Amino acid sequence: MDVTGYCVKCKAKDKKMMNAQEVEMPGKGGKVRKAMTGTCETCGTKMFRIMGNDGMAGLMKKAA
Ligand SMILES: [Zn+2]
Repeated sequence: MDVTGYCVKCKAKDKKMMNAQEVEMPGKGGKVRKAMTGTCETCGTKMFRIMGNDGMAGLMKKAA
């Protein structure tokens, strides 16, 4: 499965995440949110994508 995210260095959405791995991060109210972390295929910058209820909508809001 290809995982994509926003690369702050390339300023591009839908960059392919290399070595993507699932991580868990603490959220509000003691909930744990799933996220993906990896590196940009183009520049190697670390990328991060939250896989919570917000989904892509939350990601776009953050990137704007
Ligand atoms: Zn990049």
